[in-house]
Amino acid sequence: MSADSGQGFAPGATIGILGGGQLGRMTALAAARLGFRCRIFCPDADAPASHVAPAEVAPYDDEAALERFAGQVDLVTFEFENVPDRTAAFLAERRPTRPAPRILSICQERLREKDFLASIQVPTTRYRRVESAAELPAAVGALGRPAILKSAAFGYDGKGQVRIDAEADSATAWEKMGGALGILEAHVDFDREISVIVARGTDQRAVVYPPVENQHRNHILDTTIVPARIAEAVAMKAEAIGRHVAERLGLVGLLAVEMFVTRDGAILVNELAPRPHNSGHWSIDGCVTSQFEQFVRAVAGLPLGSIERHSDAVMKNLIGDAAGSWREILAEPGAKLHLYGKSEARPGRKMGHVTRLKRRPQRRTVRSRRKGLGSRWASFPRRPSAGGTRITSAMRRSRKAQVSTESGDRSLIQYSTVAA
Ligand code: AMP
Repeated sequence: MSADSGQGFAPGATIGILGGGQLGRMTALAAARLGFRCRIFCPDADAPASHVAPAEVAPYDDEAALERFAGQVDLVTFEFENVPDRTAAFLAERRPTRPAPRILSICQERLREKDFLASIQVPTTRYRRVESAAELPAAVGALGRPAILKSAAFGYDGKGQVRIDAEADSATAWEKMGGALGILEAHVDFDREISVIVARGTDQRAVVYPPVENQHRNHILDTTIVPARIAEAVAMKAEAIGRHVAERLGLVGLLAVEMFVTRDGAILVNELAPRPHNSGHWSIDGCVTSQFEQFVRAVAGLPLGSIERHSDAVMKNLIGDAAGSWREILAEPGAKLHLYGKSEARPGRKMGHVTRLKRRPQRRTVRSRRKGLGSRWASFPRRPSAGGTRITSAMRRSRKAQVSTESGDRSLIQYSTVAA
């Protein structure tokens, strides 16, 4: 039976985090700022999260260690989705575990994930289940070439993926993929890759960070550009999809939704991750509330924070040796360096990231504008006539204002320009 009755937790409570990587580390840092304690559960000694919070170092199937861990924490969350089902279920019987194990289970297997998305009318690329090398030719016949064969389970950063083009041989491709079960996906000739991050609380309120643009190198996220360089209508659609998926999952926590934008502006969802995401790291330095703080707020049942973006940003991962340039980055004005404390810089290993910020135009109150006082940070006033509708600052200097309703749906309305 689940120990989760929707209860909230006040600062002072202890959050148990399964997984010891950089996402757990940055979550624990955000939790500490809000007065929470964290404990980490992970199989490796010296994991990045264990540098900032005490860790139980044991394999994920060690039930004695899990029992001990459950006794030391008030609630449980995850920093990666490949936690074994049994581990999640074991903890969920003892402590509120958010997001729910059911959501982890959907997101940790690509076929289950795509079937779920299809069941809630969210478009993805065409795909086929492939159980053996012998089934591959028929699936390729149905989807055409190029196609991408992916391991259905435990894949990340392009691991367990093989491109099937004209020369590909089924047996070799199957072997290279390396999984017990495969999913064949039609190759998407995308214009851009974007993602949105949704936070949803125990009260079912949700906030969606603006779509960001992701550039990969060797299948690993290299750069995130904020905001994504896409049409406003596409951005609105991406946010609506993110919100819809989170609602239909019944999420409490954080959900990253990775998407392809096709050349004709259509959106196809590629992947879901029910946890903080690399493409949200910019929010630590670019937003009032970072994805990590939002994650803590959501799982603890606290009110969600403002997602206001005070700066545009370009986040670059420091992969392998790139982290060696920390000294130059520290000397750069407007650059925020984050290192994860990993001792060995292996190729392809995410060692840290740098976020380069570009302040957005500052906002002024009506009063300060009238008086001609210089710019300063202040909230744009609510428009009384808009009936629960709030004007965001994003397009203030345009004749078209972007509006967000209390439910988060956005539309375009006309309003008179305020002279800057
Ligand atoms: P994934 O592990 O599914 O996120 O894939 C890693 C990267 O491979 C994606 O971010 C894309 O750049 C690329 N990729 C994955 N699936 C496809 C697809 N069906 N069509 C085109 N590119 C893909």
